[in-house]
Amino acid sequence: MPLKSTRAVRLVSYPQGLPERENFEIVEVPLESPQDGDVLVQNLWMTVDPYMRGRMRPGKSYVDAFEIGAILDGEAIGKVIESNSPDFKVGDEVRSYLGWREAFVSPGQGLQKVPDVGVPSQAFLGVLGMPGLTAWVGLLEIGQPKEGETVFVSAASGAVGSLVCQIAKIKGCHVVGTAGSDDKVRWLLDEIGIDHAINYKTTDSLSKALRDVCPDGIDVYFENVGGEHLTAALDAINNFGRIAVCGMISQYNATKAVPGPANLTNVIAKRLRIQGFIVSDHFDSYPAFLNDMKTWMAEGKIKWKETVLDGLDNAPQAFLNLFSGDNFGKMLVRLSSSAKDQEGSFKD
Ligand code: NDP
Repeated sequence: MPLKSTRAVRLVSYPQGLPERENFEIVEVPLESPQDGDVLVQNLWMTVDPYMRGRMRPGKSYVDAFEIGAILDGEAIGKVIESNSPDFKVGDEVRSYLGWREAFVSPGQGLQKVPDVGVPSQAFLGVLGMPGLTAWVGLLEIGQPKEGETVFVSAASGAVGSLVCQIAKIKGCHVVGTAGSDDKVRWLLDEIGIDHAINYKTTDSLSKALRDVCPDGIDVYFENVGGEHLTAALDAINNFGRIAVCGMISQYNATKAVPGPANLTNVIAKRLRIQGFIVSDHFDSYPAFLNDMKTWMAEGKIKWKETVLDGLDNAPQAFLNLFSGDNFGKMLVRLSSSAKDQEGSFKD
């Protein structure tokens, strides 16, 4: 029976402060019949990412804002279930930007076949996808750590942060990370093997906690959080240190301008380099990144975690989890029960 419609998530209103379930609505939308050259794709997995919060407000940024009333989009992994295209056959797994829906019809542009590298295909939304490339580019090209240096990573147990920690260890650095629960801290120490991990929610002073574990200071700060984390890093960082500004998630839901750190003048005295970056400027580095990752994975040097919610109805909740810390590693939504077979092969 041909698919005539699909369920999808629509943005009802821009969040004021922390996003709420009411900002989203599940709707049924019609699907065109696939024409010559078209494929019909059933989504298996979709990602939710912090940058999507930046798209949920009016105005221009580095990615276009979502429109009120429109179906949301973002990366997804799907399976071709009908093909009128010479480029795709039924059963092919494809990566697209048409997440937040269960199925779609596409003329094929913008679809990439998922390469078979022996890991479950949803890895291409995390460790081998945009978050992985972000970690690799941000640490190696922007942070430029040298062997023996100390790297401090915030949101260290997350999709990006956990890979930054591991790449820094591979490069021979001393690594310190922060996370928001004791479980996450234990995982970073026992499984990921970083040198020190701090639960920032239970420390009185992050600056003091960082100085206590790094008496000789830090050399590179991989910034995912902002606020108190940046202040602590500016206190602890050594002369000629580098700060790779990847994200500032603590400020994404702010309803008024957040003041900068009171110790920003350390930039001068310590001759620091602070550089922001956007991963999409570095997509041409993807093959080099994938090469490194495949080597490190084959050597057993890369671990990753996924937190999975099932079903499109849970997609808004999965997104909200990013701001409450209820994700551990990459936050994903499984959109089809046919993706379930892969669960046994998750690396954990
Ligand atoms: P994560 O998997 O790290 O999930 C977000 C985590 O952030 C949560 O689990 C939570 O962990 C932490 N967090 C949420 N709110 C706060 C807060 N108020 N204070 C401190 N920590 C908080 O997400 P990603 O790995 O996908 O993204 C990490 C960062 O990287 C984000 O800032 C994101 O915007 C940025 N990014 C930037 C890109 C770029 O091109 N520049 C590309 C991709 C991501 P915890 O339990 O530890 O609090």
